[in-house]
Amino acid sequence: MISDQNFYRSLVTKSLNNQPLPKEDCQAILQSADIELLALLHSAYQVRKRFHGNDVEVHIINNIQNGLCPEDCHYCAQARNSQSAIEDYPLKNEDEILKDAKQAYESGAFRYCMVSSGRGPSEKRVDQLSDLIRKIKSLYPIEVCVSAGLMNYDAAKKLKDAGLDRLNHNLNTSEANYPNICTTHTFQDRLKTLLSARRAGLEICSGMITGMGETADDVIQIALKLRELRAKSIPINFLVPIEGNLLTQPKNLTPQYCLRILCLFRFLNPTAEIRMAAGREGHLRSLEVMGLYAANSLFLDGYLNTKGSKTARTLRMIKDAGFTIKSEMNIDTLLTNLDDKSNEFQIDDTHEYMKTLHDLRPHLENSKAPTH
Ligand code: SF4
Repeated sequence: MISDQNFYRSLVTKSLNNQPLPKEDCQAILQSADIELLALLHSAYQVRKRFHGNDVEVHIINNIQNGLCPEDCHYCAQARNSQSAIEDYPLKNEDEILKDAKQAYESGAFRYCMVSSGRGPSEKRVDQLSDLIRKIKSLYPIEVCVSAGLMNYDAAKKLKDAGLDRLNHNLNTSEANYPNICTTHTFQDRLKTLLSARRAGLEICSGMITGMGETADDVIQIALKLRELRAKSIPINFLVPIEGNLLTQPKNLTPQYCLRILCLFRFLNPTAEIRMAAGREGHLRSLEVMGLYAANSLFLDGYLNTKGSKTARTLRMIKDAGFTIKSEMNIDTLLTNLDDKSNEFQIDDTHEYMKTLHDLRPHLENSKAPTH
């Protein structure tokens, strides 16, 4: 009985013991009208707290090469058939990438993610990435993640030997739904890359994009597949509508459903870093902070081609809810450095919150602001 507290207790017990949940429980988490959202979030929080405390891992993405991609991922502004208004550029130079790494470190990022567009890296690109990884790791105590498309074992091993901590390669959706979101490579291609990375000793970062027409069963299958792959890090993206892409309209996403998805991934992947990734602001809306009770990670400073919340607002949200960042940097110092005013009383980012006579008496002709 979902209305019974035993249901929530059993979710926590199973998850803490790293046992999979029965399929009907997974379906109930995503779909049952009887779910009590606060009880569900509280249960997910018990698991999050056990393995991650109140820490939030903050990631900063660096889009080191933009566009120019031969693939046709329907959700991606860099895809060959996207009409989005992005500025293409080839690989940034080393100086620029190292400066970005310094900035990420100084912004409190726990991990610096270098993402480049394309089907997969050439041998030359793997060597360039290896050099960059070595330099970044020698300069800053920061974890490094790379996302560079499809990759075989040799390429993954070379990056691992250069000091790479993690390889990101998202499964994105279920195997059954994959042909609906991409026709130039397959779910199996993506899976092979993840297996190569794991064999090379790299941590796997792999997640999904919700809102691409997948069913609740698809979501469950992805969560289970990532559990089977022992993914260390699972970004949950919420489709961002980008004009010009083939997939522009997120389907079936509500703030509550987004939270349910985060909870499901937490229960099925108890020790993983679950990230509320791209689109958190627009899809979770007023419930955004509640995502932190299931997820323990987020991106600061926007995503690949779209902007996110301002850094100060995100850090303030983390602090206000009683969480902190996992970083060498102190969250209060960061907020002070950012000249953060978001702890002051304000409404909709404005300090002008006193009503004028016009607000109070809109139907009165010549109503104007009071002089006192
Ligand atoms: S997701 Fe990656 S492979 Fe797919 S179109 Fe975008 S840049 Fe290319």
